[in-house]
Amino acid sequence: MKKNIIAANFKMNKTNKDIEGYFDIFARNINELKNKSSFAGTEIVFAPPFTSLCEAYRIIKPFESFIKLSSQNIYYEQSGAYTGEISLDMIKNCGCVYAIVGHSERRNIFGESDELVANKVSAVYNNGGIIPILCVGENLEIRNKNGQEKFVENQLNIALNSIKGKNITSLIIAYEPIWAIGTGIPIKPDDGEAMHRFIYDYIKSNFLIDELRIIYGGSVTESNISALMIEPHIDGVLVGGASLDPAAFFNIVKLSIV
Ligand code: PEP
Repeated sequence: MKKNIIAANFKMNKTNKDIEGYFDIFARNINELKNKSSFAGTEIVFAPPFTSLCEAYRIIKPFESFIKLSSQNIYYEQSGAYTGEISLDMIKNCGCVYAIVGHSERRNIFGESDELVANKVSAVYNNGGIIPILCVGENLEIRNKNGQEKFVENQLNIALNSIKGKNITSLIIAYEPIWAIGTGIPIKPDDGEAMHRFIYDYIKSNFLIDELRIIYGGSVTESNISALMIEPHIDGVLVGGASLDPAAFFNIVKLSIV
């Protein structure tokens, strides 16, 4: 069964100590939900900083069937003289099953090019055992000129170049319009649906992916999650700011079950 994904991206927030306190609260709440049949179609994903991955894994292990771990980034080489970088084997060793690749903050603040993102996607599939959460999305200038489809199509085409013609089991695309990230201005649900449908059709006609999930990111909160999740091509959300409070994130999970 294709499960919806409700993912928390902590970005550069929370120490190991904070993570312990966070999951204490979250775990108490999740016990209330976990036996509901409507919850069976949901997977919760946490992307804490690298320094907390192993600690987070230790804590979420009892909930492993429905809570998964993701890194916020990876490097494409396996090992070597790459100071400050983290490999796929390192995140797997800390229990990750997902890796966020090409987040707009990586692209815009740290200068990650489309080609670097493509190398990372290629490495993820070559290494095996990790599913990429590939982030794409346009800025406001492009949206104002109605150029979002062309822009995202180009990002997808470059990032997924290495898997053209190959049979791929699973891929997650996070459509995250840059103008919606951290601004408090989420996409309107029908505009989100239009973009998700576009991405879905584009990938289905150009790639061989068995399980494709397209999640939305950008100012998701307790007040807009339900309206987004009703849309047929929105298979979940990636939540930044609102995931930092365990009670708020739990409510997002709860309200996502439509
Ligand atoms: C993100 O950074 O992936 C994100 C969606 O952030 P926010 O929810 O804060 O807009």
